[in-house]
Amino acid sequence: MNEMILKFPARSENEVFARNAVAAFVLPLEPTLSELSDVKTAVSEAVTNCIVHAYRGREGWVTVHCTADGEELSVEISDEGRGIADLRRALEPFYTTLPEEERSGMGFTIMQTFMSDFSVVSEEEKGTTVKMKKRFAAGQARNAG
Ligand code: ATP
Ligand code: MG
Repeated sequence: MNEMILKFPARSENEVFARNAVAAFVLPLEPTLSELSDVKTAVSEAVTNCIVHAYRGREGWVTVHCTADGEELSVEISDEGRGIADLRRALEPFYTTLPEEERSGMGFTIMQTFMSDFSVVSEEEKGTTVKMKKRFAAGQARNAG
């Protein structure tokens, strides 16, 4: 098993860095270009949520914790921000608390669609953790053969 933890301030310039760091971490699992793109998009959405929603202009940290095991990547993205009051609604497509900033409310739906497993734990005024997994076809074939 391989593992890495990244911690950085919730600033927009760190989103590209975070998604490319996870992409680099995952390369030994031999993802296809499409699988790699799925992971980068999901990580980008989760990190962007920490930057845009969790701290609302205040300073704060984002943590990205990845493990790679066989054919599977696990990634947990967490903040210590405001948390989500109504998680059930937040997970619905097109639900956003920032419509005036032209958010479309599709981030969680994209994460769910592009990853193999997806869940969210959130507590108001404590923070939010998104947990996702992606299983890669090449690794599955290798382990079977
Ligand atoms: P989009 O991702 O399409 O730009 P969005 O960020 O509003 O729009 P989602 O990513 O699906 O849509 O998130 C839905 C809602 O959940 C957000 O509007 C916000 O209220 C809440 N939310 C998501 N992530 C967090 C977080 N890390 N901390 C606090 N609230 C969050
Ligand atoms: Mg979002």
